[in-house]
Amino acid sequence: MKLCAYRCKTCGKRTHPARFVCDSCGGREFVQEPLEGPVRLLTYTRVHNLPAGINKPHLDFGIVEFENGVRVSGQLELHSPAAIGMKLEASSGVVRVLQGEEITGFIFREP
Ligand SMILES: [Zn+2]
Repeated sequence: MKLCAYRCKTCGKRTHPARFVCDSCGGREFVQEPLEGPVRLLTYTRVHNLPAGINKPHLDFGIVEFENGVRVSGQLELHSPAAIGMKLEASSGVVRVLQGEEITGFIFREP
C-alpha cells in the first residue's frame, strides 16, 4: 500500500494525512500524489516504551521533509546514527499489527 500526499485542487498546497478542508484556502477537493523518495531528516527520537502491536525493544522515529515540502513522521531504520539534516529515502510498509490488522506507515532508510 502506497502512502499519498493530498494536493489541494484550488491552491496546490500538499498535506499528509488527508484533510476534509484545505487549511490554506478552504478548498475541499484534493488530488492524490504518491509520497515516496528522497527526504531530509528534520528531527528524531528513540522510544523504548512501545504500544501493543510493535514487537521490537525500541524504535527510532523521525520527522522528515519531502522535496515537495510535505512533512511527515515515520520509523527510522538506519545503519548509522541518526543526524538532523541527513538525506534518507522514504518508503511505506507495515509498521504495526493491531488485533490482526496490518497498519501501513512510513519507513525511512539511508539511500
Ligand atoms: Zn487550498
